Amino acid sequence: MFDFEETISNCHRCILRQGCTRVVVGSGNKESEIVFLGEAPGVEEDAQGIAFIGKSGKLLRNTLQQHGMKLEDFYVTNVIKCRPPNNRTPNKKEIANCGFNTELILSSINPYLIIAVGATAAEYLLGTKITGSQVNNKTFIKSGRYIYCIRHPAYILRSRTESNLAEFNNSIAKIPLLLIKAKSKQGVHK
Ligand code: URA
Repeated sequence: MFDFEETISNCHRCILRQGCTRVVVGSGNKESEIVFLGEAPGVEEDAQGIAFIGKSGKLLRNTLQQHGMKLEDFYVTNVIKCRPPNNRTPNKKEIANCGFNTELILSSINPYLIIAVGATAAEYLLGTKITGSQVNNKTFIKSGRYIYCIRHPAYILRSRTESNLAEFNNSIAKIPLLLIKAKSKQGVHK
């Protein structure tokens, strides 16, 4: 497999590289059938160089574990690989710039299933402006990619209601079945 980590970790395509500690390319299993795509590294990810290692990652990891899955068994990356200043939402130009890197990762791993974690990732993959509520828990096939959209754990942590936690839990529970479905679709494969 092409060594995308080496290439991407040397990226200086945009101004975000100047304000972050390092490029957080992604973490986990490059042979995985599933890739999780989040928004951007936060303060912990920037410090440690590991995607989804902070508070949001903890919720994602714990929920996966409750359903017998480990985030380390999958590949996890972000639409933006360099932490934006003060965790601001990345702008269109930054997303487009980092798209080169995202495509390098997705085409190298070529997963059956891509899980869009939050609206920024869903928008990137679907190529259209959306809100989290419009796509949450839904699957899409776009350009031969099987995409499953879930809420960003940061949203759940901000609005920590029983029903949001239960909904997040249910959306994670569906992953094994969706992987089977994705594998059975013609034109969606490694
Ligand atoms: N939020 C994200 O979207 N990605 C991370 O890696 C961490 C927090």
